[in-house]
Amino acid sequence: MDLLQMWPLTLIVFALGTSIGSFLNVVIYRIPTGLSILWPSSHCPYCQSRLKKWENVPIFGWLWLGGSCGHCGSPISIRYPLVEAVTGFLFMMVLWKFGMTIPTLGYWAFFSWLLALSMIDLDTMTLPNSLTQSGLVLGLGFQLLTIVESKFQLSNLVNNLVIGMIGAVVGLWLFDLISILGSIVFGQTVMGGGDAKLAAMIGAWLGWKYLLLACFLACTMGAFIGGSAIALGRLERREPMPFGPFLAMGAGLTVIWGHDILSTYLKFFFS
Ligand SMILES: [Zn+2]
Repeated sequence: MDLLQMWPLTLIVFALGTSIGSFLNVVIYRIPTGLSILWPSSHCPYCQSRLKKWENVPIFGWLWLGGSCGHCGSPISIRYPLVEAVTGFLFMMVLWKFGMTIPTLGYWAFFSWLLALSMIDLDTMTLPNSLTQSGLVLGLGFQLLTIVESKFQLSNLVNNLVIGMIGAVVGLWLFDLISILGSIVFGQTVMGGGDAKLAAMIGAWLGWKYLLLACFLACTMGAFIGGSAIALGRLERREPMPFGPFLAMGAGLTVIWGHDILSTYLKFFFS
């Protein structure tokens, strides 16, 4: 599709993404503390005053309030509008890549799960089971949904589902292997159990082949960014670093460019 002709749709999708991002902020804040994500409605964490309707408008509400609570003046972190903007941007990327299709709907959900999990991992160094497990089930459901695109052929249905299930199993297995090897080499735990469950979730969405690419990208980025942080003195050598955000970024890059990366790679080595 022509990007210029798509701008009204792009704008609508960006707005939709920021609204979902607004809900993700609630998920990120409340799931680790065990609070309900549906009740009560958004309120200031300091004075508990409810946000007015217009203060809840993604990005603009925060800008209008000048980054502080309209009631008590406590600062509201810039990460709230940032998460909203990033979600809007990710929704646009998926739309540009896949157009108005079923995969677009699926990947919007996938990216939302990845973003929420990344932020929670950065905050708490944990990846909640409730999110990784629901994400895995959704991923297998997504494999079933893609059957609509291939005109309901049973062989495709079975094929996609098996690809997703093998992906999930490889994810678990791969990370158990990495943590066993890591603990032998470094004498300490290098991966949390949550990382294996996140890898299983990503495998369910992408299949084992693209899962391996996502993990490779994640390890490369993790080594580069972790190495730089240690070199710059921002991180101690033995200090744990959350790996979930890297896995999530690897998965996101793989959704958008995975096919191009793999075919370039194969052309380079096998032609
Ligand atoms: Zn307040």
